[in-house]
Order: sequence, then structure tokens, then C-alpha cells
Amino acid sequence: MTLAADLLLTNAEVHTLDDSDETHEAVAVRDGRIVRVGPEYEVRFLEGVGTEVVDLDGRVLLPGFIDAHTHLTATGRYLVHADLSKADSPDDALDRLRARADETNSTGDETGNATEEAGAWVLGFGYDESMWDESRYLTREDLDSVSDSRPVVAFREDMHVASLNGVALDRLVDEMPAEDVHREDGDPTGVVVEEAVDPVYEAIEPDAEQAEKLVRAAQQYANERGVTGIHDMVRKSRAPEVYRTLDMAGDLSIRVRINYWADHLDALVETGERTNYGSEFVRTGAIKSYTDGSFGGRTAKLSEPYADDEDETGQWVVDPDELGDIVSRADEAGFQVTAHAIGDEAIEAVLDAYEDCESPGESRHRVEHVELASDEAIERFGELGVVASVQPNFLKWAGEDGLYDSRLGDRRTETNQYPALLDAGAPLAFGSDCMPLDPLLGIHHAVNAPDESQQVGVTAALRAYTLGAAYAGFDEERLGTIEVGKRADFVALDRSPWDHEESISDIGVALTVVDGDVVYDGRKK
Ligand SMILES: [Zn+2]
Repeated sequence: MTLAADLLLTNAEVHTLDDSDETHEAVAVRDGRIVRVGPEYEVRFLEGVGTEVVDLDGRVLLPGFIDAHTHLTATGRYLVHADLSKADSPDDALDRLRARADETNSTGDETGNATEEAGAWVLGFGYDESMWDESRYLTREDLDSVSDSRPVVAFREDMHVASLNGVALDRLVDEMPAEDVHREDGDPTGVVVEEAVDPVYEAIEPDAEQAEKLVRAAQQYANERGVTGIHDMVRKSRAPEVYRTLDMAGDLSIRVRINYWADHLDALVETGERTNYGSEFVRTGAIKSYTDGSFGGRTAKLSEPYADDEDETGQWVVDPDELGDIVSRADEAGFQVTAHAIGDEAIEAVLDAYEDCESPGESRHRVEHVELASDEAIERFGELGVVASVQPNFLKWAGEDGLYDSRLGDRRTETNQYPALLDAGAPLAFGSDCMPLDPLLGIHHAVNAPDESQQVGVTAALRAYTLGAAYAGFDEERLGTIEVGKRADFVALDRSPWDHEESISDIGVALTVVDGDVVYDGRKK
């Protein structure tokens, strides 16, 4: 006698995305695992009295998306605090901050006393003055009009610039390096940059309760976008504690691999943590390091100068010697290693460090971003088996007159060479860096990239966001395709990306399933 399934997903166009990439009509799930994939009538044999049946009405069913590079609490901040990324003027940004201040003021208890939250920080994230007609940073004067009794901070999109009101400045200005505090006639304007932003971060670092709020909001947002797993980058944050607490309570609706910053390496070694240790939902991932900066700040490390500054070739955030030391210590302790590298010189430095490891391919060492890799470096990814963990949404900068054009000139078409990486046999994983967290947007950019050398087909793009990301997290045996025996993580789409190549970013997510549970149902009723 066959056991009945817990869940049937029927009347679907099921794409397995495995090597044969077959299409089927239906899937059956029991105990969080896929138990049958095939024609409707065969899958229906597993229907019992208690089986939940979801008719997908002909929709495309795919393995759930795995985002290989996230900062989940950063996404949570946009959701919980004022989201300034949607503001189209300084006034609009201030209105959003005022709304946030009101929202938290009204949480006073019935005696009318302000709660702790009501006296606390008013925060906004993601403003981008370069998109405004009135193109200027927010100032102390602006933010004093939001509140003159509570500290108010608005962060610029890149998090390298923050605007503070008078109360916030009074609290923190003594801890800030003077050269990073903007002044006019000796008085702080409210704008602080670079290292002066650090004391602000520390002051607003969420406690466990606040961090849980951020994670809960962000995991819901991720599920709504078809995300069933993430590789989260974590440094001195409460996020790992929250992930494990929610996991114990059965409240996590997303699988999390925690990539810990190299600062934590000694502590992890001492406490016996190793890559892949953990539960079905929360596992320890890689040790993460930096090498260079970014193109925006002209700090990505280039072999040839920037197109818009011929004296500049970028900077090391972590130089090759220090990187080599981190890589060898982490590798010898049995950890997967990953390093941020954007410019060609930085990418080469990481590959050099990995080449000295025992077996970089087996350890699945990875490079994050890989935006400007030389042809030679691309070949080395394939030869060494090093994972290229890339963000196809960054292709938004690759067009004519885009950021890559101004910083790199002709080299803009040499960025994000996904087809060459695949041809070289490099493991390719897609992620978003939460800019924003949205796999279909990234897939859209990869399929519709400005240059042929950056474009991949729909199937290849979907694979990089499913099986490719699973591989980067040692998860290809349990996740990443729709096959019998794998965990039941799925996303159903309202339209077929193969039939709507030019508008993939507009396709709606209809249903998200994690471990056999429906965690999001966006079907029009
Ligand atoms: Zn990142």
C-alpha cells in the first residue's frame, strides 16, 4: 500500500531544471520531501483523505529560488523603518520620516506615557538624491523638522552617507572623526560620511527583539518573491541568534546559510562550528572576507586606471597578504571561504590565494561579485572549480551612460561575463546582495543584458538562481531541482518566463512552498 501525500501541486507546467530539464504536470509531497513528479493521473494516485490539493491552473512550477548573497536584516530595515528609496524629493523623504515618527509615537500606553520605542530613534533607509530634481543631501535642518526631541537619521542608499538631526548629532558627534563630519562655517550640516557613519550604526544596532522583527518582515518579503533559501552575510549582528531561535520554534520560512565575517573565525573554530553544520533550516556556511571596494566609490581594485580618474586604480580593503592569511587559516580549519572581489586585480588576488589551498574546488571556495574578471581569470574559475557568486541585478549599471560606462569606459561590456564563466565550467550562483532582494529582477537582467557577452538564456538564468546557488551552499543533493527525494521547495509563477523573456521582472509570484508548507499564496482569488 502506498502512503498518501500531504500535498499535491496539480495542473502545472513543472520544470525540473535538472540536466534533462523535463516538464511534467504535477508533483506530490510527503513529510516535506518530493515523492512523485509526473503526469496528473500518476500523481493523483497519492491523493488521500488528508491530502491538500493545490490546482495551479496551468502555471509554471520551478524549484524555489535560492539567493546566494543577502543581508536579510538590511531588507528588514527598509520594511520596518521609513523606506526612503521610493522618495522622489527631499520633502517626500521628510514626509516618510514624519509618518514613521508618528507611527512609533502612537505606541504610548493608555496612560498616555510614551513607550521606550516612542522616545527612540526615527530611522529611514535608502535615499538617493541623485534621482531627485532637487539633488542634495538631507541636512540637520531638514531632520529637525521631523523631530527636535528624538534622534532622527536618514541613510543614503550606499550606507556611506548618513544625515542626522540635532539630537542625533549631539549624542554622537564626539565619537566621529572630524574630517568625515561635513561643516558650514564651523557648524555640522548634519551630513556625515564614511567612518563617521560607524558610530551611528553602533548606536542603532538592533537588540534581539528588534532583530527578530527585521528578520520576520524580511523573510515574508523574500517568500513573496519566491525565495526559499538564502546565503546570508553576517558580521557582528544578532541575526544568527534570531535564525536559530526561529528555527527552534518552527517559525523560519526560509532556509538560511550563514556566511560569517572573518572577524568571527577564531570564535567559530573554538566553538567547534564548521561549514555545513546545522539543521535542515539553518547551517553554517563560509568565512567571508573583503578584498576591494566598489565601482561607485572608485575603490574597486583595477589593473588599469578608472575611465573618469586616470590617477585612480582603487584600494585594498583587505590586502593580498592579509587575505592569504585569512584564506589559509579558514581553509585549514575546514571552512569554505568566500571573498568580495569586484575589480580585475582583486579577483586575481583571491584566485591566487585559493590556488594555494589543498583543493579549492572540493572546498567550494567562492568569489562574491566578480564584476570585472579578465579572460584568464574566467578560465581559472573553471580550472580551480571556484564558485562565481554574482548579482545579475548589477547589470542595471552596464548600459550606455550607466555607472560602468563612466567608471570603466569601454570595459563596461567586459563586466559580468556569465556565458564565458559557464563555458569555462565555473560553478555559477546568482544572488541579489539585497539591492533589492528579487530573483525575477536579476533573471530579467541576465536574460536581457546590454551586451551579448553578458546574456544567458532563461533556463541558464533560472538554474543559476536555483541549482547553481544550491551548489554554492553544498545543497545540490537536497535542493535546487524538482526531483524525487529532494526537499519540497517550490515557486509557482503567474506567467512563463520562457514565453515572456522581455518582461520577466513583471511576472508575479503565485505560490511559494518551503519544506512542503505553503508559505506564500499570491493567487488572485
Ligand atoms: Zn553584500
